Order: sequence, then structure tokens, then C-alpha cells
Amino acid sequence: MASSTIIVHGGAGEWPELKQATGLSGVRQAATRGFGLLQRGGSALRVVETAVMEMEDNPIFNAGRGSTLNLVGDVEADAGIMDGKTQRGAGVALLRRVKNPIRLARVVMEKTDHALLAGNSAEKLGEAFGLPEASLKTPERVRQWKQARRQLEKADPGDFSRNLKLIRTKGQSLLGDTVGALAIDQNGDLAAADSTGGVSLKLPGRIGDSPILGAGLYADNRIGAATATGVGEIAMRLVVSKSACDAMRALTAQEAASQTIKTVTKLAGKGLGIVTLDRKGRYGVAHNTPHLCWAAFTRSRDSSRKCISNLSERF
Ligand code: ASP
Repeated sequence: MASSTIIVHGGAGEWPELKQATGLSGVRQAATRGFGLLQRGGSALRVVETAVMEMEDNPIFNAGRGSTLNLVGDVEADAGIMDGKTQRGAGVALLRRVKNPIRLARVVMEKTDHALLAGNSAEKLGEAFGLPEASLKTPERVRQWKQARRQLEKADPGDFSRNLKLIRTKGQSLLGDTVGALAIDQNGDLAAADSTGGVSLKLPGRIGDSPILGAGLYADNRIGAATATGVGEIAMRLVVSKSACDAMRALTAQEAASQTIKTVTKLAGKGLGIVTLDRKGRYGVAHNTPHLCWAAFTRSRDSSRKCISNLSERF
């Protein structure tokens, strides 16, 4: 029988030392809450939604309230959710005022025939289902945005003809703090969820990997679940979450995560992290960014509960 497990992450990129302890306590809190639900018989789907909501409500993370700002200083948040049992999933994108984007992704998955909904019309659906609204902008993100804009203006404009180049050249500090969660429940059902403000200074209208099934997240009861973080354009081009799941047909979760990141480094360079979970409840973590903040809660071999939280360095 699979052991109930949850793994959550708080984003790849560069975690400044000052933020590390708060980030770790945020992921630990989300994993602990999710594991408590699993222990009480909660479904994997509900658990990943709850864990992601918890992190969306924590302004340290780049998701929900506390999302990073785009080039013109607006929030445009994305989120996705997938149920490994039914293979249904959906994403939402370009949200400005839905307090918990992950809840809207679940509404799209369960109440519509679509797999991706964006912008104002998506927000209207949230209103119709009574989802709470909130301003997602925080003073701290406005401060960071002003600083990043100043750096951008000082730099050689030739460097910024392409946004991805900007993200790469200006470093991993423009990424990060996106959140994701994977869980396997007592019935052996798997689920994946993620949520993000995207990469900071993105062009208005840019949608990342997080709401795209196969790229930002994937879950299939027959093989496993995965969610990616980092440069979304890489995750989309290489369909990394589906690839990591496919790798789990033959490999453990950790082997699949490591192999996926090795391939990413070879084909697209640095800028990505991934967490994985296989059918046996084993998890994996790999990244080629400086850091990835994550926590996992599972049962150890002696059947005691165990929470491992970590800010892993690049490996
Ligand atoms: N993958 C997210 C995006 O590209 C950003 C991140 O994970 O930090 O929108």
C-alpha cells in the first residue's frame, strides 16, 4: 500500500538569506496542514488545494497575495490543478483580484468543459461561484518591483530585446517563490497543484507554465505526479512535468526528478526546479537554480510521522 505523502515547494530561484527561515517555515506549515488532512482521510485533490491556498495566503510566497509584479507593476497570477484519478485538470491565468487562484482552477476543472481560462472572464466565473476577492499586491512586492525597474533602466537596452534573455541575464533573483504541492492519499490517488505571480518584470499578458497541464504540473494515478518551478518558458517547451511523470514508469521519484533536470540543463540551460511523487509515496526534488525551498511530510519506515523541510542548494 502507498504511504500518504505530501510534498510542497515554495519556488526555485535565489532565496536571499534573510528570507530563508520564513520561506522554510511557510512550506513546513503547508506540508503539516496537508498531511493532517491526509491522515484524516482527505483526498489528495483537497490536500493539494489546501496546501497551495495556505501558501497563497502567505505573502512571503509569489502566489496569491504577494504575487510578483509584471513590467508595468500589475499582478497577473496563474494557477493549475490536476486530479490523477480522473486525469482532469485545469489552469487559470492573468488574474488580478481572485484571492485564491487555485480555488478558481478547481472550479474550472470541476464545473466547466475547459482546461484553461484567463483574465477578466475567468474572474467573472470566480465571482459567479462566490470566490472571495482581494488585492494581490503587497507593499513589499511594490518595493521590489521599483528596485528591479531601476536596475532594468540602468542596463544596456540591447540586453533586453527578448524577455527570456532578460530573465536569464539578470539572474535567478527575478524568479522564485512560486508554490506547488503534490499528494498521494490513503486510496492511492494522486494530485498536483501550483500557483504563481509568474516571473517578475514579465510582459503584460505573459502566461507561464503553472496553469499548463503537462508543463507546470501533471498527475496520473498510474505513474506519479510532478510540478515545476522556475523559467516557465523552459517548462513549457520541454513539457517537463509530463516528462518527469513518464520517467517514473521506470524510475523512482528522485531518479525521475534528477534525470529531468539533467535533460533541462542540457537542452535549455539553467533556471528550473521540479518536485515529483511516485505511486509508492516516494518523493523527489531536483533543480539547477541556486535554491529550491521545499518540505515533505510522510510516514517513515517505523511508521512515525516525519516532516522534512529543506532549502536545497543546487546539485
Ligand atoms: N514557473 C513560474 C512561471 O514561469 C515562475 C516560478 O516558478 O518562479 O510563471
